[in-house]
Amino acid sequence: MTTADRSRFAEYRDRRRGGPPRTPQPCGTIGAARRHQRASEPLCDLCRPVWAAHQHEQYERRKAIALVLSKQNPHLTLTEGQRQTILGRQSIES
Ligand SMILES: [Zn+2]
Repeated sequence: MTTADRSRFAEYRDRRRGGPPRTPQPCGTIGAARRHQRASEPLCDLCRPVWAAHQHEQYERRKAIALVLSKQNPHLTLTEGQRQTILGRQSIES
């Protein structure tokens, strides 16, 4: 979506909704960190630690899922590809 499309869509959305655009999440939130990323901006000092903690949480969550799966299926051995799918890959762009 180009910038022109985006603002046209925003106008349309606001007309449909009959209200002003939503207020974006302030810095120091996941939403703000994602906004920086969408805009290809570096994360600011408020957003960086919040995003890192969120990523760590997600990583621990995926690890816990993998552990539960392996306990439920003791004979299941994951291939490297399956393990990578569960544990996630380091994002290429970050
Ligand atoms: Zn920020």
